[in-house]
Amino acid sequence: MSPELINENLSAIVARIEAARKAAVKPAPATTLVAVTKTHGADAIYPALIAGQRVFGENRVQEAQAKWPAIRAEYGDIELHLIGPLQSNKVREAVSLFDAIQTLDRPKLADVLRAEMDRAGRTPFLFVQVNTGEEPQKSGVHPRDAGALIAHARALNLPLKGLMCIPPADTNPAPHFALLSKLAGENALPLLSMGMSHDFEIAIRFGATHVRVGSAIFGERLKN
Ligand SMILES: *Cc1c(COP(=O)(O)O)cnc(C)c1O
Repeated sequence: MSPELINENLSAIVARIEAARKAAVKPAPATTLVAVTKTHGADAIYPALIAGQRVFGENRVQEAQAKWPAIRAEYGDIELHLIGPLQSNKVREAVSLFDAIQTLDRPKLADVLRAEMDRAGRTPFLFVQVNTGEEPQKSGVHPRDAGALIAHARALNLPLKGLMCIPPADTNPAPHFALLSKLAGENALPLLSMGMSHDFEIAIRFGATHVRVGSAIFGERLKN
C-alpha cells in the first residue's frame, strides 16, 4: 500500500474515532488508536509515524523484536503494545520491548511478569485479556475467572490498568463489549481495549479507551 494511502486511511480512522466519540452517550474520557502493524514492515510504519501516530500494536514478540528497536532509536516517544498471546519463555523479551502488554490471561504468567519486571526494572502496563465468547481455541481468561486473576495480579502489585477482548468472529460484538465494560467497572479498572477495523465504532459506544485497528489503515495482512 502506498504511503499516501496509509496516510489517508489513518486520517479517516482518526476522524471516525472522533465522530464515534461525539455520537456516544458515555464515551471514555479518551480513546487511543493502537495502530496494528503485524505483518507490515518499516515501509508501512514510517508513513504512520510521519503523520504523527505514536501508539502501535504487534501480536508476536519475535516479529516485533525484529522491527521495532531500529524505529524506536529514531522515535523516542513510541508506545508499543503487545496484543497477541504471550508465552512464559518470551516474557523477558516482551518486558524489555513493549510499553503495554494486553494479553495477561493466567496466574502463572502474572508470576513470571512480576519476576521479570523486578529483574529488569521495567514495568509495561497490563491488560487482562478476557475470552468473552468462551471460545476453547482462543486465549484469554474465562469471564468467571477474571476476578480471581485480577486479584492475583493486584496481590503481586503488577501495573494492571485494564481489560482487553477479541469477540468471536461473525457475531454481534456489542454484548461482548458490554460484558468487558461491566467487568472493568466491577473491578475498578480504567482501561478497555476493544474494537478492531470492523467494529471499533461500536466499541467506542461501550466505552473503549483503546481501539486496535490494523487492516483499515495498512491494508490486508501480508502473512500470519
Ligand atoms: C490483528 C489484530 C487486530 C487488528 O485487526 P484488524 O481487523 O486488522 O483491524 C486487533 N487486535 C488483535 C488482538 C489482533 O491480533
